[in-house]
Amino acid sequence: MRENTGTEGTALKDNASGEAAPGESVLDEPAVADTARGRTVEHELRQRTPQGPDQVPPSAGLRLLAVHAHPDDESSKGAAMMAAYVQAGARVMVATATGGERGDLLNPAAGEIQQCHRDLPGVRRLEMQTAAEALGIEHVWLGFMDSGLPEGDPLPPLPAGSFATLDLEQAAAPLVRLIRHFRPQVITCYDESGGYPHPDHIMSHRITMEAYHAAGDPQRYPGTGEPWQPQKLYYDRAFNPARFRAVHEALLEAGFESPYTERLAWLDGDERPEWMVDHEVTTQIPVGDYLEKRDAALRAHRTQVEPEGFFFATPNDFLRRVWPYDDFVLAHSRVETQTPEYDLFAGLR
Ligand SMILES: [Zn+2]
Repeated sequence: MRENTGTEGTALKDNASGEAAPGESVLDEPAVADTARGRTVEHELRQRTPQGPDQVPPSAGLRLLAVHAHPDDESSKGAAMMAAYVQAGARVMVATATGGERGDLLNPAAGEIQQCHRDLPGVRRLEMQTAAEALGIEHVWLGFMDSGLPEGDPLPPLPAGSFATLDLEQAAAPLVRLIRHFRPQVITCYDESGGYPHPDHIMSHRITMEAYHAAGDPQRYPGTGEPWQPQKLYYDRAFNPARFRAVHEALLEAGFESPYTERLAWLDGDERPEWMVDHEVTTQIPVGDYLEKRDAALRAHRTQVEPEGFFFATPNDFLRRVWPYDDFVLAHSRVETQTPEYDLFAGLR
């Protein structure tokens, strides 16, 4: 069983840079992590019954910015949500911090393509373009160098000048500039764990927190455009254990094998890693009609994603019945809203 270290409940306040300004709500109640395993399972089961609307509301005039670490992260986390909001008339922008230069060739079939060996970063730029077209989103590169996932004992130092080694203000400046020009009402990013402990994912979280709070302050980041204050910040919860459990149980009930057996045993067992954070899902976006767009975006990243791999292990018709959502955690809001939510722009319309 995982211990409650007592640090997670304060993380929101830290992340939200202390006291709430008048009119702001620092959501230390609904979004606080639930680390007691039994309560988590109970909560997961409560999330099983599809509820709420099956489409996002018309969204013309609204803007969403999703911050990611590498090309392909946008397609494995929240991609169907983005396609849904594009269809509803919102503008959706993905900012990718690094070029994914240190990624490996993860799909053996792509190894037959010579260009992958000669210029993997170049191939990944083209893949990203194809994925963006599949989702209908806009896309920018923040221009940093992939830090790679250090391996070994002791861990080797990160490459000099790579994204995760940079000074926070230096690394956040391009994102502040983007926020001041694109002017999103809502921003999504990873939680403080990064979702998994890749240094670029943790750094993506850090620059997003910094930029979310600084972009509206005329004293900060001079020369990067007119101040703009985003109103809501979400953490992505693509790997919500509740989702795996619900799909797992539904597959077993229907007489199928489950691809999640090992993953759930790992999540429930003693091997559950320290870095894993259990923020409670506050917001479920109906995406049942957009799972095929997500698949197309994932497949566009052909060097990174195996066409028969984990992400395609459950048929979309099954997902539509059991878990037709992308899940998020409301981390900070400057507008009134009530959880559970079914719309990232709730309170802003
Ligand atoms: Zn990544």
